[in-house]
Amino acid sequence: MKEVLLLKLGEIALKGLNRKTFEDVLIKNIKRRLRDLGEFSISSRQSTIYVEPLDGSADMDLAEERCAKIFGVVSYTRAGEAEKTLDSIREKAGEYLRDVLEEAATFKVEAKRSDKKFPHKSPEIAMELGAYLLERFPHLRVDVHRPDVTVWVEVRESAAFVHADARPGAGGIPVGSGGRGLVLISGGLDSPVAAWSMAKRGLELTAVHFASPPYTSELAHDKVVRLLEKVSQYAGRIKLVTVELTHLQEAIRDYCPEELGTVILRRYMLRAAQRVAQDEGCLCLITGESLGQVASQTLQAIACTDAAVHMPVFRPLIGTDKAEIVKTARRIDTFDTSIEPYEDCCTIFTPKHPRTKPTLEMVERGEAAIDGEALLEEALRTASAQHIRAY
Ligand code: ATP
Ligand code: MG
Repeated sequence: MKEVLLLKLGEIALKGLNRKTFEDVLIKNIKRRLRDLGEFSISSRQSTIYVEPLDGSADMDLAEERCAKIFGVVSYTRAGEAEKTLDSIREKAGEYLRDVLEEAATFKVEAKRSDKKFPHKSPEIAMELGAYLLERFPHLRVDVHRPDVTVWVEVRESAAFVHADARPGAGGIPVGSGGRGLVLISGGLDSPVAAWSMAKRGLELTAVHFASPPYTSELAHDKVVRLLEKVSQYAGRIKLVTVELTHLQEAIRDYCPEELGTVILRRYMLRAAQRVAQDEGCLCLITGESLGQVASQTLQAIACTDAAVHMPVFRPLIGTDKAEIVKTARRIDTFDTSIEPYEDCCTIFTPKHPRTKPTLEMVERGEAAIDGEALLEEALRTASAQHIRAY
């Protein structure tokens, strides 16, 4: 029996004149994600995207798994295709949903007729199918309020589709419909979640990671690559730029006031990131900071950090608790990788008593002790790039 994937559009269905553009981006993303899984036809009709396998080799299980991670899809389901006759609908529904209906005790039928030329109205389709299923699965009862399973019938232009309840999709809006942002990625818990959050709102991502060899190892870098591979299942291809900050960090350690070391380092990270962003066509920076989490994430420290750049810095986690971040990290499967214990350049040379309420004047004075410009240029010359994609 022919099976398709139906992807329902969320917010983008509401985007008025831009809707077509959003849909086009989404379809392009779906095609890219399914490219290696066989031949599919992907088309959009009536706020739904149809993913139809064109031959037996198409892997529907993997296709479904990947579609669950595509932003712009609010819910998705696999559906059996029937001819547009009551007979065919009844028979295919019984066959296609046999397993779920055998497991269930109660059910109801919801019918939708978007092809108004179909001679039977929705309530009639629901009644006919309900009666048929009761006969075919005598253990079932109808419960219209809290059924174990809802059997959906959608009579559309091309065919009729039967399916059980749709699953929630990744939500958000399609990656690539909102420009490009540069995420500062560490090996921690927060920045991968921050990256995912912004991709969810349509941004394409480039990533920058700061390393400080020999204080940080190749293993720490490999961890970042593996984290980005996970994020890339949602965000698509990500270019990772790695910049070495060793000399800059040593200079800050040796010449700047110790209690301001962290905030000064963060200002240089943002400056370096801004330069990478300009080269890579990114219009914003993204970090995983959350207000008050550590000394460098107090309001005063963040104000000093932001003053170093003139580009929007998005902190999608600013108002979230660690527990919420952990929940998302588990959902997107970055948690186990994030908690692997590798050093990060932010955690080497940390001051014993970092100042939690620095002022910009204090920080600028502290920074004057080093030739930051030259050290920044030197750091940027170490930049190397690689492309990361989940599949
Ligand atoms: P995370 O869990 O993302 O590491 P964190 O709570 O450990 O965050 P910090 O280490 O202070 O906080 O880092 C704050 C933010 O700065 C990170 O979320 C990330 O965006 C950026 N950042 C930290 N270290 C690096 C690094 N080595 N390379 C690139 N960005 C970094
Ligand atoms: Mg960290």
